[in-house]
This record gives sequence, C-alpha cells and structure tokens, in this order.
Amino acid sequence: MPLAHEVVEALAIDNGVCIRPVGLRRMDLKTGISDIINAPCGATLEAKCPPCAKRNRALRKAQCREGWHLTAEPAITPDEPNDYQRHLVEWRADAQALRDQCEAAGLPTDDYDQAIAELDVEINAAGVRGNVLGRTTSKRSRSTRRRQDAPDLPKRAMTATTLGRTYESPDGRSYRPSMFITLTLDTYGRVNAGVPVDPASYDYVRAARDALHFSKLIDRFVQNLRRVAGYDVQYFATVEMQKRLAPHLHMAMRGSMSRADIRAVAAATYHQVWWPSCDTVRFDGGHLPVWDEKAGYLDPDSGEILPTWDEALDQLDANPDAQPLHVVRFGRQVDAQGILSGTPDADQAIRYLSKYLTKSLGQAADSQAARDHAARLAEVLRYEPCTPTCPNWLRYGVQPKDAKPGMIPGRCRGKAHRPEHLGYGGRRVLVSRKWSNKTLTEHKADRRTWVLEALGVTDEPADIGRYVWSPVKAGDPDLPPIRVRLLRSIRERLRWRAHMNQLQAAADGLDLSATAGRAA
Ligand SMILES: [Zn+2]
Ligand SMILES: [Zn+2]
Repeated sequence: MPLAHEVVEALAIDNGVCIRPVGLRRMDLKTGISDIINAPCGATLEAKCPPCAKRNRALRKAQCREGWHLTAEPAITPDEPNDYQRHLVEWRADAQALRDQCEAAGLPTDDYDQAIAELDVEINAAGVRGNVLGRTTSKRSRSTRRRQDAPDLPKRAMTATTLGRTYESPDGRSYRPSMFITLTLDTYGRVNAGVPVDPASYDYVRAARDALHFSKLIDRFVQNLRRVAGYDVQYFATVEMQKRLAPHLHMAMRGSMSRADIRAVAAATYHQVWWPSCDTVRFDGGHLPVWDEKAGYLDPDSGEILPTWDEALDQLDANPDAQPLHVVRFGRQVDAQGILSGTPDADQAIRYLSKYLTKSLGQAADSQAARDHAARLAEVLRYEPCTPTCPNWLRYGVQPKDAKPGMIPGRCRGKAHRPEHLGYGGRRVLVSRKWSNKTLTEHKADRRTWVLEALGVTDEPADIGRYVWSPVKAGDPDLPPIRVRLLRSIRERLRWRAHMNQLQAAADGLDLSATAGRAA
C-alpha cells in the first residue's frame, strides 16, 4: 500500500501544486495582522519541484515565442521609479555612507555589508533592474585588453535595429526569417554513447576548463555575430549538457544570416583566459598555505608570502612570452537553420529550446561507465579554479582575490564545482535585453491578470510598502506541517480548476475563441 505522504505529494504534482513551498511571514502594516503565506519554490526561478519547473518552462516558452519574430522594435523605456524604490535607494545610500565611515575609521564593516546586501535584494525585488553600484569589478583590465585580439571577420556597418531583414516573395508576401543555432564544444577524445572510449587519453582538464569558461565564449560569439550581421542581434538561448557532459548551446536568433556567415563567426570566436598558471600543484593534502592576519597566505615551510592575485597578474603582464592559461573555442559542429514564424518548425524549435529546463544540468547516468566518466570530470573540476576568488588558487601558490582566512583548496562552494553543474556555473537561459517587450516577471503578471479577470476578481493594485515579508524559521509554531499545507493548496487548486471549467464551458457556448485559445 502506498504511504499517505506519497499520495499527498502525487496528488499535489497532478494538480500543479508546489510540493516544496517556502513559508513567508507577511506583516500587514495597515491592519497589523501577520500571517503565513505559502510561496511556491519556483517563484525564485530556481524551481526545486516538478510542478514549479513545469510552470517556469511554460513561461520561458511564452517568452521565447514572443520575441523571436518580432516585427516592431521592442519598447524598453523603463517606468519612472516609484516612491518605494526611491526610498530604498536613499536608504541604500545612507548605509553605504555609514559603511565607508566605519572602514575609514578601521572598524569592522560586516554588519553594514550584510545590511547593504539585503537592501540590494530588496531593491531588485521592488522592481529595479541591475545593481545600484553598477558593475563592481575592479578597474584592472590591462592583461585582458592587451591580448584579446579581434577575430578575423568581416565587419559590416551597424544599423540601429534589433529586427532582421524582411524578404518579399514574387507574389508580394513578405517573410521575416529567423535562425535556430546549435553550438557545441570541441572533442576531448573519442566517445561511444557519451562515454570516452579511452578514459586515460580523454582530455578531462580541457573539458573542465572549456565548461568553466563557456559563458564567456557565448558572450564573444554574440559580440562577433552582431559585428558581422550589422545590426543589434537579439537572442533567447539555453545551455544544456550533451551526453558526453560538455555544455552546448541552443539559440533562437532574431533575424537571419547565411549559414556560411554563422559558421565563420563560430570558427573565428574564441576566449583567452589570462589567469596565472595552475598546471603545477604546490600545496596539497595537509601541506597547505597558512594564514597570517597581516600578510595573507604564507608558504608553510619557508614563511614566504604567496603572491596576491594582483601581483600574480602583474607577473603575467610583465612576461612577454606568457601564454593564456586556456583558450576556449567552439567545436566544428555548428548547426544553423532558418525558421519562419508560426510554422511547425518554429514550434518544434521552441519546444527544443525549453526541453531540458525542467531537469538539472547533470542528468542521472544510466550506466556504470557513464557514472565513472562523470566522477572523473567532477574530480578534475574539484581542483580547477572557477573564478579569481576561488580557494583552489592556493593549491597553485597564488592567493585568491579577496583572500580571507579558512580557505581550503578543493572545498570551493562555487556552483561550477558541483556535480550537478559539471563546470558550467552560468545561467541556463540567456535572454538578450531587447528580446521582447517584457521581462519574465511581466510575463508572469500577464498570466496572473488573465486568470484573475477570468475568475471575475479585480487585481488589487500593488500596495507598495504595505507588507513586510520575512522568512519563517523551521519549527515556527505558526507554520502548519508541510502535508497540511499541501492538502490546503490542493483543495484550493481543485476549487479553482472547477471554476475554470465552468468558465470554459460558458466560453465554448459563446464561442469566445480568443479566450479558449489563451486558456489552452
Ligand atoms: Zn515548487
Ligand atoms: Zn571555485
């Protein structure tokens, strides 16, 4: 006999109810009433349960479809900031000033840093894009600027449009074709059904480094694509793992180019990683650099101070014979297909683009050989530095950027090292800024408004600043047990569904095809 809790969970999944809801305490400043709201886990976009993943996938499909064959420039004029947003930014400015005063006085700034981080999250949650401080990367750009050569590609004059060309057929109909592009990485050794034929000669280090820097390669590809296309190319792309565990990219591109041009761009695109060498292991196991409050990390035997991140980069700059740590390129397999809007091909490509979004990057291996392959890659990734701040730099005798005590090589918590990420720590879905008129939040709002309208409920205008939200701690006596919460949500959903069915029946009777189409 099935266990009761399994039945509850299965029922929740069948009804599209989040099975891992996050409890949030909502304090209503108007009424003084505080209650607990079940937020679906998928609200964070990193859905952890099947119903939320499915819902997010549907949203992504809508977003992909909306922008692909756009016929007019998307309007992306941001709204004027509202009072609450202004208030938050002022508050943020005060916190920054206090923090800087503390720092100048040599006092600890931890509390302010924490408050600032929380404010930044709140500012984004209030509907402000980006970061208040803008990009906070260091000004250092010497070593990369000097050596990232421009690829050998034709450069066309840029026109200020994000739309592709329109073609006229002899019978006077116009077409606006777009492209569906698939890019893969190079080979690291022969594979059979995703598993290396000869694991000993398979180049795991190159596979690991390619995956770690794959996002950068995508950025460069887009830059080059725009240069050759001669307009502001927009894209919706997803990253997924091939069976051999190398990331690859599916990209819906607005507008079209010849396949030969796309091939040429892919072939000419590369990214050089100008990082210190990490080919010689200097510290390992129990023999690790030691922390000194003043100097940072020291050699445990000689007491010599290890070069800091900036010093290591300076050494690299000073050496005329220096080579990049790594160069990432695409493999030879480039697939580019012309797609017309509203055709079965377009539907199929959109399904394909969103196919893997409900699954994690690293899939369960189906054989012992595949598991061994994944384990070997994960072991190499464990010690590859993922970013300048990665503790793994200590293994190669360099102090990580922003070094602090307690860093241990092989124990970096960065996403890229995790077995389910396999070196790719970037986002799964990459959408250019002028893809459509809407952000994902706005797509969500669309659906919400429609459902509320259908139910005959008026959407309350967002009463900004009315509620204060805080996380509910595990064991809070006000938080009902998870199964009780699931049963309530299921009941709610069933009631909602019954109501929708009634509306549907009424709509069918009236032949409101527009409504029915949207409901489907
Ligand atoms: Zn969920
Ligand atoms: Zn790392």
